[in-house]
Amino acid sequence: MIAPVLPTYKRTPFAFERGEGARLFTTTGQEYLDFGGGIAVASLGHCHPALVEALQNQAAKLWHTSNLYEIPGQERLARRLTDASFADTVFFTNSGAEALECAIKMARKFQSHAGKPERYRIITFEGAFHGRTLATIAAGGQAKYLEGFGPKVDGFDQVPFADHEALKAAITDETAAILIEPIQGEGGIRTVPPQCLRGLRALADEHGLVLIFDEVQCGVGRIGKLFAHEWAGVVPDIMAIAKGIGGGFPMGACLATEHAAAGMTAGTHGSTFGGNPLAMAVGNAVLDVVLADGFLDHVTDVARYAAQKFASLKDAHPNVIEQVRGAGLMLGLKTKPLNSDFVNAAYAEHLLTVGAGDNVVRLLPPLIITKADIDEAVQKLERACLRLETKEKT
Ligand SMILES: *Cc1c(COP(=O)(O)O)cnc(C)c1O
Repeated sequence: MIAPVLPTYKRTPFAFERGEGARLFTTTGQEYLDFGGGIAVASLGHCHPALVEALQNQAAKLWHTSNLYEIPGQERLARRLTDASFADTVFFTNSGAEALECAIKMARKFQSHAGKPERYRIITFEGAFHGRTLATIAAGGQAKYLEGFGPKVDGFDQVPFADHEALKAAITDETAAILIEPIQGEGGIRTVPPQCLRGLRALADEHGLVLIFDEVQCGVGRIGKLFAHEWAGVVPDIMAIAKGIGGGFPMGACLATEHAAAGMTAGTHGSTFGGNPLAMAVGNAVLDVVLADGFLDHVTDVARYAAQKFASLKDAHPNVIEQVRGAGLMLGLKTKPLNSDFVNAAYAEHLLTVGAGDNVVRLLPPLIITKADIDEAVQKLERACLRLETKEKT
């Protein structure tokens, strides 16, 4: 008999009822150190006092009105995001996939508005993940997500990761845009080298293409800058964000330059829930913390510490950890045993991590973690390695 909850998830058999900072507590009172962050969502940890207060205050005032009316929280958050980035304008959504849908529609509309409606195709990269709607599974191009869902949405051309020649060859007079994650998340924490991002910018400019960055996972402080692409000194025309900006409240956003957004006039796109007062109260509160003096320096500082510790862990356990990847607090351990076995061994040590493609274990802790939290995580990872090494011998 089918479960009342549609069984599309392979769930770990425990549930949490309470969280505090980087800690989660199960319904049976067990404590876990959270280095998964709900897949990079709990950017400020669990129940951050400033977020709790912002949400409670807003909950007592007003939940929803509709985009039929002005929403002051949207205007404030959009102003702050545009002041702090390449963008001039923002569309608010409820999820990452919806932020990507907006980005895809906007890029196509840009070309058609510029008199080139034949340019609607978007180049994406192997290993990409952009969400689970029909358009975003086509953009991601992964067979396991496309299988059985009918014809793949047209208009996406995929090229191998980091293959500049294949990319150049894929550009035709129907190409509208290039879409890329500056650091692939689900694909296995694969960082696009800064010079490649710069190369994409040059190629987009040369061919009149829209450059779209998917920073749903790597954005909002995770890499020690507000947005990951800042490290490369390159800006996109359009960018999708989500996970970290809500700190656990479901929200996303599509940011764009005025030029790229030219065709998006009244009536061209919309959302019932996107940008509602609850989400905006939380999004603004997240930015208060992330943009406060010293916060991103803290991220860079603990991230550097974590990278050193994980490198030593790899050296001590070369039969378990093959490689440490990533940047900032978006780190990956490529493991020799099955990554799911490693994730399970970490569970046994009460540490939460997240699997990814390419047999990688992701470490996406809240950005508020301390060096002491990292030391504790490293001890747990060490014991997880020992578990797997012992298993290997028996
Ligand atoms: C999670 C993710 C998405 C999809 O976000 P949803 O909120 O699950 O729709 C898109 N792109 C990237 C890079 C992601 O990590």
